[in-house]
Amino acid sequence: MINEEERLAVVLREFARTLTTDFPIQGIVDHLVGRIVEVLPVTGAGVTLISHDLSPKYVSASNAAALGFEQLQSKYGEGPGILAYQSGESVAVPDLLLDERFPVFGPAARAEGLAAVFTFPLRHGDGCIGALDLYRETAGPLSVHEMITAETMADVVSACLINAQARERADMASAAYLYDSLHDPLTDLPNRTLLLDRLYEANLRAKRSRLYTSVYFVDLDRFKLVNDHHGHHVGDQLLIAVARRFSNILGVEDTVARISGDEFVFLCEALPDPIEAKNIGGRIERVFDRPFVVDGLRLSISASIGMAVVGPGEEVSAELIAHADTAMYLIKRHRGGRRHVVGQVDSALSSLPLNFEQEIGDALEKDELQIAYQPIVRMSDNVMSGVEALLRWDHPTRGRISPLIIVGAAERSSLINLVGEWVLERSCAVLRRWGTGDRLAPIGIAVNVSARQLVSGDFFGTVEHAVSRAGIDPTRLVLEMTENLLIEDSDRAMKVLTDLRRFGVRIAVDDFGTGYSSLSYLTRLPIDIVKIDQSLIAGIAGGPEAVVVSAVTNLAHELGMVVVVEGIESQEQHDEIVRMGCDYAQGYHFAVPMSESEIMESDWSLPLPNGASQFR
Ligand code: C2E
Ligand code: MG
Ligand code: MG
Repeated sequence: MINEEERLAVVLREFARTLTTDFPIQGIVDHLVGRIVEVLPVTGAGVTLISHDLSPKYVSASNAAALGFEQLQSKYGEGPGILAYQSGESVAVPDLLLDERFPVFGPAARAEGLAAVFTFPLRHGDGCIGALDLYRETAGPLSVHEMITAETMADVVSACLINAQARERADMASAAYLYDSLHDPLTDLPNRTLLLDRLYEANLRAKRSRLYTSVYFVDLDRFKLVNDHHGHHVGDQLLIAVARRFSNILGVEDTVARISGDEFVFLCEALPDPIEAKNIGGRIERVFDRPFVVDGLRLSISASIGMAVVGPGEEVSAELIAHADTAMYLIKRHRGGRRHVVGQVDSALSSLPLNFEQEIGDALEKDELQIAYQPIVRMSDNVMSGVEALLRWDHPTRGRISPLIIVGAAERSSLINLVGEWVLERSCAVLRRWGTGDRLAPIGIAVNVSARQLVSGDFFGTVEHAVSRAGIDPTRLVLEMTENLLIEDSDRAMKVLTDLRRFGVRIAVDDFGTGYSSLSYLTRLPIDIVKIDQSLIAGIAGGPEAVVVSAVTNLAHELGMVVVVEGIESQEQHDEIVRMGCDYAQGYHFAVPMSESEIMESDWSLPLPNGASQFR
């Protein structure tokens, strides 16, 4: 038979143990009220933990009656527990009938059969976190020893509770920290880290299934313009609105992440077939059908969406994001982001190995890359006035690979700088060999530059080096950049362009008319030449495109720019652009891209296309 003291020691040891385990707060108070009625001669016990605004946070009681008394005190805001909490001192009420301190609680509790209450504050520093109430149905005091025992238990339990509270706060903070580290603070969508995590899990699941997994890379078109015109606040709100619509079209198992500024990635798993993957792409497209209303503004925006799909047995990895990114880039490049179009990496690219960049690097070293030169013809006399350098790669086993694919893949690493540098060096050297003076004047040689190339590394230095090494006049070099990429790119890009123009190099905006195509934009970009895209030429005879081509030509002339039209394939188109006053043209009608020696051997003074049969 253990005595009272031994029983107390056992109980205290139990509480001490909660300090080293992750016992929850409610568990501790429940345990306290359960054990104390075994140790002391009382009929019930209750604990209320009170928050700063005096509202009860945790309540526990050894029986229904005790719970009722706790609730009565909370209800009336009065009672021995509240007094102990407020004063920090024990409160003894050996006979409720004789005590006048609780005019409301007293009679109400007596009506429920309560005769005596002994309350002990749960102290924390100078304040309290709550109170322990011991209830008896018969009047009479507790002995000094019993009072000390109760007070000791209250103190020990306070220590346990404070410890548990600190632990809960720490748990909450670390959960919040974990959440923050995996989510984008603006849109609350998963971030890149969480996306990669989900991709990893998707791969484990995909290995065990016979289903398809798809990834969509979504890049908002001309998002920079929203920030520029309406301010970052509107830009941010737009991103939030887009994120919300994206979340609404998501299946429960799917993920949509924001991985940077205006780039989002969807990961969709367990698709029965590639058709379903395409359908999802369509759903993402339709998100942009309706305008977004932000800050009272109606904003119509589009997006370029690239898709990559893997089937049963194929690896789901970060490569999939890179492939979808490349597909997106090709779409943006082709369509100029005029419409949001879901594109899949075309068959050439989807069958490319994952180490395709490596192959490009090897090709560069083995001198397998080549350049074709397409004549640019002056409309006043049809004489060749320059050439555009176009990258070519006749792959030993895969056949000819589009420069867009080479550039798209090379842009995923710093390889784009090596490829770009090679094209520049080669082009400048070729121009030197062809001779200076009037030959190929006034355009000289036009080299394509990707925007990513423009802002990485020391692009200005690269150009300067190529020009001086070849010993050509910088005014004979034109750098072509697409309108979309120009507009979307940073202040840094603008600075590089300005430096280049100061050096003497001319800048052409390529594929004009496919992207934002705001005529007003022409006035703001630091450019010398506008190249009108071939997509506007197809319908030029009588189609609505004619109006656009004519307007662009007129404005460009007003601004002192030169107009080059791309993709002229017929005499009719030729006649039409001459009528509109375009300065130069390029296209199969005049000449296809040719080798260095073919250009060399041609008669430079002969007008094209009449003299061009030699080029075909
Ligand atoms: P781009 O700069 O707009 O080049 C014109 C494209 O139109 C070339 O395609 C050319 O072969 C094609 N083309 C020329 N005349 C006609 C025509 O009458 N009808 C039609 N339908 N097409 C015509 P290509 O060579 O396949 O190059 C595609 C794109 O790849 C280029 O478009 C350019 O943006 C990019 N690119 C080519 N070489 C390089 C390079 O060295 N660096 C970079 N960054 N991009 C390059
Ligand atoms: Mg070009
Ligand atoms: Mg072009």
